[in-house]
Amino acid sequence: MVRKLFSIGLTLGLSLGLAACGGGSDRGADAAKDTGVSAALTFAAANFDPNAIAKQLFGAMKAGSAQPPAPYGSYAKGCVAGAVQLPETGPTWQAMRLSRNRNWAHPETVAFVQRLSRAAAAQPGWKGLYIGDMSQPRGGPMLTGHRSHQIGLDADIWMLPPARLNLSAAERENISSISMRRANGAYVNDKWTPQHMAVLKAAASDPAVARIFVFAGAKVQMCKDATGDRSWLNKIRPWYGHHYHFHVRLLCPKGASGCVNQAPPPPGDGCAEAETWVRNILNPPPPDPDAPPPKPRREYVLADLPSQCASVLSSQ
Ligand SMILES: [Zn+2]
Repeated sequence: MVRKLFSIGLTLGLSLGLAACGGGSDRGADAAKDTGVSAALTFAAANFDPNAIAKQLFGAMKAGSAQPPAPYGSYAKGCVAGAVQLPETGPTWQAMRLSRNRNWAHPETVAFVQRLSRAAAAQPGWKGLYIGDMSQPRGGPMLTGHRSHQIGLDADIWMLPPARLNLSAAERENISSISMRRANGAYVNDKWTPQHMAVLKAAASDPAVARIFVFAGAKVQMCKDATGDRSWLNKIRPWYGHHYHFHVRLLCPKGASGCVNQAPPPPGDGCAEAETWVRNILNPPPPDPDAPPPKPRREYVLADLPSQCASVLSSQ
């Protein structure tokens, strides 16, 4: 038995590629302070099969754990204890797609979303914000959709300016956000407004924020339009998709020792990099004949996650 657990432990540490939503990098995950052996033993003690598919267990959780709030692991490989729910409706926000039950997050993320929604409500034409996916009640991998959003520190914010904040639950299932892009994301379209830039600037200027993912054309437009201080542009990172919503990623909260930050963006406003993205959208480079084939992805099993995630699952 011990030998079996040990071999399970040795399967830890596989690295994965880039996430579809949010560029979840697993760089630094080795710093999660768990040896594979202790993780496997903890899962066994909590009566979980360490080989169980993690997304099935986390996807079945209906409420947060009764524990002090704590993210464990990295954005695309972890879980969150003590997550709280963003209220479905507030004075300056509404959570969308309630049926997904993904309006859960670390309390600091909920506070951030509320804070940003107040700033958005100061913009003409914006009653506040429509909030897309945050995390599952206990974080972890999801049955559908994102690869990141696992530790309660990611939030998707709709680009659609809220005209009203009394949408019914059915409306929140059926209304779509709007795309901001044209030419495959090389440019913004005529739906893009200075208010979008103001909301993104407010988000990027918040000290709790690590980075924001948005399509390259939006970043280049903001690079052109920014006046004065440009330091906030550093956190705005071009990424695939992200034209119906932008994605805010928070830093690990102070003192959260089990939480693994992503490496910070390189210094500078990042505008040259965004322009390279745009050039590559407009004139895609030929495929590299020497590129190695993409590594097949394996579903995470429980033993892949930090050992604390067993108690996050088993807690009341
Ligand atoms: Zn996202």
